[in-house]
Amino acid sequence: MFKGKSVKRILVGVSVLSLMVLAGCTRQEPAKTAAPEKGKAIKIGVSMDDLRLERWQHDRDLFTAKAKELGAEVVVQSANGDDQTQFSQCENLISQGVNVLVIIPHNGDSLAPIIEQAHKAGVKVLAYDRLITKSDVDYYISFDNIKVGEMQAKAISTLVPKGNYFLMGGSPTDNNAKMFRQGQMNVLQPLIDKGDIKVIGDQWAKDWLPEEALKIMENGLTANNNKIDAVVASNDSTAGGAIQALAAQGLEGKVPISGQDAELAACQRVVEGKQTMTVYKPIKDLATAAAEAAVKIAKGETVKTEGKVNNGKIDVPSILLAPIAVDAKNMVETVIKDGYNKLEEVFKNVPKDKWPKI
Ligand code: BGC
Repeated sequence: MFKGKSVKRILVGVSVLSLMVLAGCTRQEPAKTAAPEKGKAIKIGVSMDDLRLERWQHDRDLFTAKAKELGAEVVVQSANGDDQTQFSQCENLISQGVNVLVIIPHNGDSLAPIIEQAHKAGVKVLAYDRLITKSDVDYYISFDNIKVGEMQAKAISTLVPKGNYFLMGGSPTDNNAKMFRQGQMNVLQPLIDKGDIKVIGDQWAKDWLPEEALKIMENGLTANNNKIDAVVASNDSTAGGAIQALAAQGLEGKVPISGQDAELAACQRVVEGKQTMTVYKPIKDLATAAAEAAVKIAKGETVKTEGKVNNGKIDVPSILLAPIAVDAKNMVETVIKDGYNKLEEVFKNVPKDKWPKI
């Protein structure tokens, strides 16, 4: 168990139970690792998909700070959303002699050979936030991503119980994007079956880029004569792109739309009534849990996990943290209280007399 106040304990949602084998699953085996030589600092290699989206800069900074506090050296590389670059960066980190490899995959389906290479060098691999599928990855630390999707669809379908829905999915190469959609459909499918909701568009935005979402939404609006009642967007960057397209048609603030990540721009849109909700995932908790785990793995110590997630090949020992649905009403007591975004920044475009008193 990770102790310390900032680490909110993990709540494995009922929705994810099907993926998790919970009984007696605390992993206690001592790890076989490329342990550091005596007197040498632990070296953690971090291979990141992309730093273009705001959230990943938080992840990088918080992970690095925690690992350093625990006495480790951290080498971070970002692949700018390119599979081949990520592959060679991982190979490079292994050959630099890292003691453990932390990967945020761009394409979770294509990294199995890297896990093999790492294992040959005695290096264990931790999948951070996104699962590495069909591989022997050692650990997976993330949020309950199915729950995230359920929160998004729940918030939107409560406001729009009937009507035309547009589904704005994330990157098709990201396993999380599929899990968000699975969660969304847990909520939407019964309403679709009843005939209350009609899905009039279902697209996936390459690399989660706002410009991709903008194009998709523009086309969706044109194809449907602007008759779209709600948008279930899988994160804030795609929501941002979609909202730009809605705004061009005078529909900003009129069509409920979800998001995720509590990015500053999205939090601003939420309090300004332009985006219905976001999902706040306390990145500090994720980064802390992952840094603590990485250091333990490198030292050959036990990492306590809380369940297993099947990745298409094995059941991966996992830790899943609880996401939090955020709208204008609970913005202060969640994102702002945690210091993730500052009140004066979130409310920057709102007249001061309308700012919450805290
Ligand atoms: C993450 C989201 C993020 C998205 C785009 C997903 O894997 O879980 O938090 O918005 O990637 O970077």
